[in-house]
Amino acid sequence: MRVSTQFADTDAVRDYATGLTFQQLQCRDFGHNWRPHTAMRRDDGGFDRTLVCKCKARRVQVLDSYGRIVATHYEYPDGYQMPKGSGRISSDDKGILRIASIEQDVANREERSAARRKAPSKTATRRRSR
Ligand SMILES: [Zn+2]
Repeated sequence: MRVSTQFADTDAVRDYATGLTFQQLQCRDFGHNWRPHTAMRRDDGGFDRTLVCKCKARRVQVLDSYGRIVATHYEYPDGYQMPKGSGRISSDDKGILRIASIEQDVANREERSAARRKAPSKTATRRRSR
């Protein structure tokens, strides 16, 4: 059994980041924003509860009759997670995801303000430095 942590390749993290939607990038950056979706009473008095996030991730919980969490698992939409076996994203490489989130946010704001000015937004494709 492997004991040391296997980290994902930095280039693979970059590729992965470009495939994420803005919402997914935000969840990677700030964490999920869970909201209740379904809850059902179990025969043992507890609950099966599902929470969802805007990114379509789901947190599925089993609660006992006191509301204590007995089990939790997560379900993610395709593409949210790196492919199986990629390894964990190192804390340094999480910076790649943060920068992608920031760049996408800035691009979205610029797009919105361009639309507000009613300027044809297709004309200005600014070059990025680097
Ligand atoms: Zn989310």
